[in-house]
Amino acid sequence: MSSSTTTETKQAHDETPADIDIPDNYVAYTLAHQKSLPPFQWRNWRTEISWISFSLLTLTPLIGIVGAYYTPLQRNTLLFAVFYYYVTGLGITAGYHRLWAHRSYNASVPLQYALALAGAGACEGSIKWWSRGHRAHHRYTDTELDPYNAHKGFYYSHIGWMLVKPRRKPGVADVSDLSKSPVVRWQHKHYVKLLLLMGFVVPTLIPWLCWGDARGGYIYAAVLRLVFVHHSTFCVNSLAHWLGSTPFDDKHTPRDHLLTALVTIGEGYHNFHHQFPMDYRNAIRFYQYDPTKWFIYTCKLLGLARQLKTFPDNEVRKGVLTMQLKKLRETQDKLAWPSDSNDLPVVNWDSFQEQAQKRPLILVSGFIHDVSDFLEEHPGGRHLLVKMIGKDATTAFFGGVYDHSNAAHNLLAMKRVGVLHGGHPHGLDEKLIPPSQRLKIARYNELSSPYASSAWSDGEGMLG
Ligand SMILES: [Zn+2]
Ligand SMILES: [Zn+2]
Repeated sequence: MSSSTTTETKQAHDETPADIDIPDNYVAYTLAHQKSLPPFQWRNWRTEISWISFSLLTLTPLIGIVGAYYTPLQRNTLLFAVFYYYVTGLGITAGYHRLWAHRSYNASVPLQYALALAGAGACEGSIKWWSRGHRAHHRYTDTELDPYNAHKGFYYSHIGWMLVKPRRKPGVADVSDLSKSPVVRWQHKHYVKLLLLMGFVVPTLIPWLCWGDARGGYIYAAVLRLVFVHHSTFCVNSLAHWLGSTPFDDKHTPRDHLLTALVTIGEGYHNFHHQFPMDYRNAIRFYQYDPTKWFIYTCKLLGLARQLKTFPDNEVRKGVLTMQLKKLRETQDKLAWPSDSNDLPVVNWDSFQEQAQKRPLILVSGFIHDVSDFLEEHPGGRHLLVKMIGKDATTAFFGGVYDHSNAAHNLLAMKRVGVLHGGHPHGLDEKLIPPSQRLKIARYNELSSPYASSAWSDGEGMLG
């Protein structure tokens, strides 16, 4: 087979979706049957450490700190290092992450090359490799098939997963769409050269040629800048799965926090991101810190990006409402509620009269209430209650004598001890149900189904 045929075969293979033939029970099957390597132990560290990434991730901070001790920091070099941090950081956030891993917008060819180069300067692997892992992270979040599973701890999801050989292959994730992109293929093919060029040569060369600070450029703009970019983007896998709130969903670990956003060029609204990953934004409010979103939007204004995807606001707000209802339900469950007619004995009028001789029972809206512990507390005075013992006080309670407050109605309902037989008149729902119960949070299975058979009972309907 000639080498060009081999290349073509490989390319055709790359362009076939990796998950086209997976079984329906892929996740459970793989977790049960795929062999994982034994846990990392110190006795076999030589073979188990991922030496390339281990060296890159340990030597850069070491060289940076020692180098900084012996190298004076010039103002221009500092400003350039910060600028280059944002350039290479955006290569990851706007390029690798939001453009390629999630396809949240379309970029013009010049912008694609710029992002592919900038991303190479962050030294985090090629677009193809990075996106494959990231798609598996989204698809199998918090499971063993997630390459940076947050349940394995902060340290593991931050950096540990790269230092030691993965114990298990990440779950299948398709990147055949990326294999079709000439820019992604070009970057993957020349990755090592591009990494050295953009990660080390360019940030050394610019300070050298422009203000004669080659050594400062190497230490600050290349090496230390790289350490910052690394840990900044690593925080998306660790900090963003650990710190903050879950305003859209709490099924998994991703969280929203300003601090994470500040250190990750806007990737800190990670709870939103995992819910709506194809959205080009991570922060949806104008005042939230998401420079990556602002960058992409500016590219759109400049004609370099188009088709910026946003998730329908209506669906985003449903997520927010769901979480709010969940919190309200917790509050509701912590409170004590009155008994309803199903829990109370049904008493006839004569029996009510008889029992009212022994204890202070008052009828309101068809419920019999025992007010013995309230006689002295009644703000209107004991005498008004005593007058109503054994009687129907509905009219007096609802405005006849005094139009009681919602709080009074709620409290009254707590004193229910029985239901008068035939005592619930029609059309009195307002008086029957205390204000605190007129709206309530009910689980789906606690309601009669909203999808029940109203359509079937419509005699004029389709079934004719
Ligand atoms: Zn995540
Ligand atoms: Zn993502």
